[in-house]
Amino acid sequence: MTVPLVLAEALTKTYQLGRAGLFGARQQVTAVDAVSFSIDAGDSFGLVGESGSGKTTIAKMLLKLEAPTAGTLTVDGLDLGRQSAAQELAYRRTLQAVLQDPYGALSPRLKVGAIIAEPLRAHGMARADADDKVKELLALVGLRATASTDYPHQFSGGQRQRIAIARAISVNPRVLVLDEPVSALDVSVRAQILNLLRDMREKLGLTYLFIGHDLAVVRFMTRRVGVMYFGRMVETGLASRLLRTPLHPYTRRLVAIAAARPLDGQEGFAGDLPNPLDPPSGCAFRSRCPYASARCTAEVPPLRTADGDHEIACHHYEAIAAGTAARSSQPPVHAGQP
Ligand code: SF4
Repeated sequence: MTVPLVLAEALTKTYQLGRAGLFGARQQVTAVDAVSFSIDAGDSFGLVGESGSGKTTIAKMLLKLEAPTAGTLTVDGLDLGRQSAAQELAYRRTLQAVLQDPYGALSPRLKVGAIIAEPLRAHGMARADADDKVKELLALVGLRATASTDYPHQFSGGQRQRIAIARAISVNPRVLVLDEPVSALDVSVRAQILNLLRDMREKLGLTYLFIGHDLAVVRFMTRRVGVMYFGRMVETGLASRLLRTPLHPYTRRLVAIAAARPLDGQEGFAGDLPNPLDPPSGCAFRSRCPYASARCTAEVPPLRTADGDHEIACHHYEAIAAGTAARSSQPPVHAGQP
């Protein structure tokens, strides 16, 4: 059996907030709620969902910027919560990230050569070797060799993202976390950067966790995808199939909106977004779901396998797919109502 390179098991992140009022109870928000997924070496997995769904919190836990409250995150066989100092240093080579804002990720005071060489030098590479490696990386990402003597502000957004990619791959990582890497770029250069990232994955045998909200981009970049809503994974499967024939009502709505196609007589999302400080019982999507039933209020729907590796967290997905699900006659409920 193949051991996944990245494995999240019941991963949970809860933030403790202040008290509600002077004598009120302490409040907490669960950003990621018992999420499980795996990514095999060399594979690409996408996370989609609206902002606030928990995608970026998962990226932060992988980058060790946040610690899980519960559950485990294992990369290359090592539990991130149990790494020794030496393993933690090695992990910084194993996993790198390319983020949404290339300008924010690059120090404006350093020349491009120094920016790309920084991780190499931090891992002990001699300056002359690092300089040679920088030239090689600049060529690999399609930038001229003389770019190393310029500053980030002298480049376009697309070129800056190429610099960020060169820096990320400089230490030969196995996993790249790509958090909305093209959403800040002009539409005209997005395709170039996406093609570059796909080429890099093939050439270097990289494994991708790709976070995005543009379904077409996620489908282009990933083989498998997970859909998140309100901190929970609600549907996972092959991107080509899941994004063509989604089964969860939330994914169905996302796909319909992306295609500007009305669904169930609705154009967008009806009903309230759940309040993270007052989370709903049962299914978190019930305040916006036209098929919500009493069972949806009482029971959290578990992820169930439909076929192959397609999983859906919905009590009624079979009936919805068959067109026999009862439509709720009630107006959308307030998300905090029991
Ligand atoms: Fe809608 Fe119920 Fe399915 Fe949730 S479990 S998506 S409320 S039908």
